Parts: sequence; C-alpha cells; structure tokens
Amino acid sequence: MLPSIPQADPARRFARFLPAIHEAIASCLGSGRYILGPAVERFENDFAEYLGASHCVGVASGTDALLLALQAVGIGPGDEVITVALTAAGTAQAILLCGAQPCFVDVDPLTRCMDPKAAVAAITTRTAAILPVHLYGQPADMSALVEIAKRYGLALIEDCAQAHGAHIAGRKLGTFGQAAAFSLYPTKNLGAPGDAGAVICSDPATATRLRALRSYGWEDGSRISSLTAGNSRLDALHATVLSVLLPHLDEHNQERRHLARAYFSALQDLPFGLPPDDEGAVYHQFALTCEKQEQLRLHLSARGISTAIHYTPPLHLQPAFMGKEQDALPVTESLARTLLSLPIQPEVAWPHLDYIIKSITTWG
Ligand SMILES: *Cc1c(COP(=O)(O)O)cnc(C)c1O
Repeated sequence: MLPSIPQADPARRFARFLPAIHEAIASCLGSGRYILGPAVERFENDFAEYLGASHCVGVASGTDALLLALQAVGIGPGDEVITVALTAAGTAQAILLCGAQPCFVDVDPLTRCMDPKAAVAAITTRTAAILPVHLYGQPADMSALVEIAKRYGLALIEDCAQAHGAHIAGRKLGTFGQAAAFSLYPTKNLGAPGDAGAVICSDPATATRLRALRSYGWEDGSRISSLTAGNSRLDALHATVLSVLLPHLDEHNQERRHLARAYFSALQDLPFGLPPDDEGAVYHQFALTCEKQEQLRLHLSARGISTAIHYTPPLHLQPAFMGKEQDALPVTESLARTLLSLPIQPEVAWPHLDYIIKSITTWG
C-alpha cells in the first residue's frame, strides 16, 4: 500500500508531548490568567535565556514580530529596508506595514541567504535597515552583514522565523542585530498550536517600546497610550504549550541534522544542488535544487511523498511588492524555479527515511 507522507505535520509533534501539553493547558485554564501574565513571562524569560539574549517580547505572529521590531528601532515612512525575495510573504509585508519600502537583493547560491555584496550595492540615502532571512534554518553571512550595518549606520533586524536554535560558532541567531523576529507558527522548529511569535532584543529601551507596541501603546504596565499601536500579544495558552516544547528544541534540531546528514550522504553524487552541511544550521527545510523540479515533485507525489516549493513566485514578482523599480534577481529566480523541500520534520521523515531516499535515487 502507498504510504502517505506529509511534507510537515505539527499534530504528530504535539502528539509526542501530549500528556505534558494537556497538563500545561489545564493549569493555564485554571489560573485565570489568559492575557500576558506569568505564563507569557515564563516563556519570554526561558526563550531569551536559551538564545543568550537579554529580552524577549511575545507577540501574536512572526509577521507582527517583524513589524514591531522594525517600528521599535524607528523604521517608518520614507525608509528603505534591504531584504530578500526568496522568503515568506510576511518578511516584506512587515516592511510595507510599517510604511517603509522593501528593496529586494539577490541571495548567495550556496547559502540561499542574502548576498552581502548585493546588499552593499543596494544602499541608497534612504536605506535605514537590513533585514536578512536565515532561510531554511541556514545562517546568513552575519559577520559580513553586521560589518555592513555598522559601516553604513543601518539597523540590522534578523528574520529568524526558520532558525530557532541555529547558531554561528555557538552564538545563537537572533543575537546579531538590534532586534530579531521569530515566528512560532505550528510548523516552525518551535511552534504553537496556532499563530504566535516573539521579538528578541538586547537594549532595554527597545524592549519597553516593543511591549508598548504589542499592547495599545501602553508603557511600563500603565494604561496610558504613549504611541499608536494595536493588539499583538502572545496568548498565555500558546505560551504554556511553547514552554513544554522549548526544552526539547535542541534535541529536535539534532534529529533534523541527523536526517539532513542521511540526505547528504544518499544524494551527494546525484545531479541535485544540496544545502550547505553546516553544524550551526537547524534544517527547518531540506531543499534540494533540481532542474526538473515539477517532474521530481510529481514522481514523489505519485509515491505518496509530499514536497513543497518555498518560495515561488519570489516576492519581487508579486503585485503587493512591486512598488519600487526593481532589478532582476537571477539567483533568486533560478532557485525559485528549481528548489524542492523534502520532508524533514522528524516525526514525519524518520519512519519513512529509506523509502524517501530510495524514491529519489531511483528516479529518472
Ligand atoms: C513563517 C515566516 C514568517 C511569517 O511568520 P507568521 O508567524 O506566519 O506570521 C516570516 N518570515 C519567514 C522567513 C517565515 O518562514
């Protein structure tokens, strides 16, 4: 019988920790504190400590995390923000939502993350920030990007939505810029059973601004609005579930690395482009490049294996983001045409690893 292997399935991760999750939810329901309060503070403190950061502010989604991070460091109308087009829509929507203009630059063909030379070439008098994405959990070239931000006086905001626990020589991603945004969407390496996100920063004044920005502009527990802001709080129920999963994040990422190694050794001599073998990466996705992307996708689908394409069309070719005159992005466009994400969530991929590998190696 044909197996049915989803590309990702968060329900199987929650199932693995179900008794602890049930207990945490029951305790939150009984506590009477559903909005901010101790459950949210506990997750914020634990996640900041895990990352080696000073402050974590829980918010309602990854997109809101990016928006509030940009606003908290002072990005707004008239500003340009340099980012990539090979990413989720939320990255660039956050830039538009704060009133700024995304300026898309090309990526490096090996890391698939922002090409620092392209970032420098895109700097104008309006550039206010650089927003790199650690795509698929692979660290972007932060030593170059930190240096560029410093040299040109730009803010540096990391999009860590796919990089929970990833590091460069032991230093966790999310600690390299003025602020970093995490999505805690169900399928992410650390995910809630619903929408959730977090902003990381080191400066206490930025943290205070972020807390005001997520809750009606109220500062320091007062009920006085000091700035324009909506409601973008992390729910206490989600925070309790995240606190159950956080202690297992490293182990979970290690399982993803083992799966990536298995893919590397099985696929390295075949005509595919593979991601870097990086001990600091957390393999949110394992995406190979294949000239016959659609044929491989259909072949695997016929064998019951779901794959995904992240991301096509790239953002610079989508109507919402076509405001500014934009150069072609040849590497981005070529990757978008050829990338295919295999199953790598451990609960989904482990039981079928040999079958998935055999289905690829015997293709064509
Ligand atoms: C998931 C994701 C986002 C958006 O996060 P949401 O929680 O869905 O709003 C932003 N950037 C990247 C790179 C993502 O993967």
